[in-house]
Amino acid sequence: MQGTQPVTASINGLKLALSFNGNIVNTLQLKKEMKKNFPNFVCSCDSDLFCQKLLLELEQSKDLTSAVGACMQSLDGAFSVAGITGNGDFFAFKDPHGIKPLCAGHSPDGATFAFSSETVSLDMNGFVRDFELGPGELVKVSKDGFEREQIVKNPRKAFCAFEYAYFARPDSRFDGKYVYEIREEFGRNIVREHPEIAKDADVILSVPETGDDPAMGVHEESGLRWERASRRHRYVTERAFILLNKERYSTIDRKINILDSKVDGKRLIVTEDSIVRGDATKVTIEKLRRAGAKKVYMFVTFPRIIGPCFYGIDMATYGQLIGSRHNAEEIAKIIGADAVCYQSIEGLVRATGHTRDQLCLACITGKYPTPLAQKMADEMKEKFINGYEEKGRIYETCETTPHV
Ligand code: SF4
Repeated sequence: MQGTQPVTASINGLKLALSFNGNIVNTLQLKKEMKKNFPNFVCSCDSDLFCQKLLLELEQSKDLTSAVGACMQSLDGAFSVAGITGNGDFFAFKDPHGIKPLCAGHSPDGATFAFSSETVSLDMNGFVRDFELGPGELVKVSKDGFEREQIVKNPRKAFCAFEYAYFARPDSRFDGKYVYEIREEFGRNIVREHPEIAKDADVILSVPETGDDPAMGVHEESGLRWERASRRHRYVTERAFILLNKERYSTIDRKINILDSKVDGKRLIVTEDSIVRGDATKVTIEKLRRAGAKKVYMFVTFPRIIGPCFYGIDMATYGQLIGSRHNAEEIAKIIGADAVCYQSIEGLVRATGHTRDQLCLACITGKYPTPLAQKMADEMKEKFINGYEEKGRIYETCETTPHV
C-alpha cells in the first residue's frame, strides 16, 4: 500500500488529498522544511512531501491560489497534480514548465469533472476531452465547470520528449495529435536519415509495443515488409528498465518471443523506442542472432540518452546510461548490433509539432529546463568523469545548494 495514491494529510482540521505525477528536484531542502514544521512527519515518496508542503502553504495563506503559487515558486522539478480539500474544493495544476502531461474533461451529462495524465482515460470512461493544462496553470472546479488561472506569468514550456517515444499510450493525444501518429513519423524520419542502412535490410521487426508504431513508419517510408515475428508475452508486464540486473535479464527473456523461421537468414531493421542501459536491447539481439538473423540494424526513435532524468523517469545516474559513455558505433559493438541508428533530435522535435524550446530534451542534450537540475547535472557529470561512483538517485544524495 505504501506509495499508492491519492496521498492524504491533515493539520488543525484542514485536510488534503492529492495525486501527483512527477519528481521534485530539491527534495532534500523540502524534507528539511517539512521536518522542521512537522517533527513526526514520515515521508515515503515525493507525493507525501508535496501534499504536506501544499497543506502547510494552505494553512498559512488560507487560499488555494496562493498556496499553489508558493509551491510553484519554491519547488524545482516536474509536478502535475490533482487534489481535493476537506471542503470539497477540487483542483489541478501543472509546474511552471509543464513537464508532465495533464488534461481535463467532463462527463456527457456535465455532472462530473475529471483530470487525467492522458486523454486515453477520459476516452475510456466516456468523458469529453476539454483541454490540456498549460505550464504554471491552476484549474479549479466549481458547479459551473472549470475555472482556469495562470499562476506563473510567461512560463517556459518544457514538455517531456520521452513521453512521445516511450511513456504515453499510443492512443492518447497531445495537442490534438495521437501519440501513435507521431511515433510513425519517428520511424519515417529514421529511414530518411539513414537511407543506406534501410537499403541493406530485408525486413522490419519491432520490439513490442513501443517499437510497433515506428515500425509502421519505417515500412511506409522504406517499402520493406513489417514482419510481426517478435511477440510480447501478454502477462509479463514488468518494465524491464526499472528492474534489478538479474530480474531484468529474465524478464526480457520471458517477455519477447522471436519466431525463428521468419528471422533466419534475414537482414533486419529492428525498431525500438530507446536504449537506456543497453542490456535489454542486448538480450533481444542475442535472441535474434540465435534465431539466425544475418544482420541486425537497430532503429531507435529516442536519440542517444546522455544524461539522467530528474523529473520522474527512472534513469537517475550517469553510470546507468550506456549513452553517457559511448557513441552509437561503440554502443552497436557492445550490444551486438551491426549498427545503431538513432533518430536525430531535430527529427524528433519536428515530428512532435513543437519547437525545441517547448520541449524538455535534457537527457539527450544535457540542457535542463530548471536551474537546480542543471546545477546537479553539471556537478555530477564532473564527478562521474573523475570516477566517482554514484549511489542511488542523484537528487537524493547530492547536497547541491538550492537556487531558492
Ligand atoms: S530529462 Fe528526458 S525523460 Fe526526463 S523529463 Fe526531460 S525529456 Fe523527459
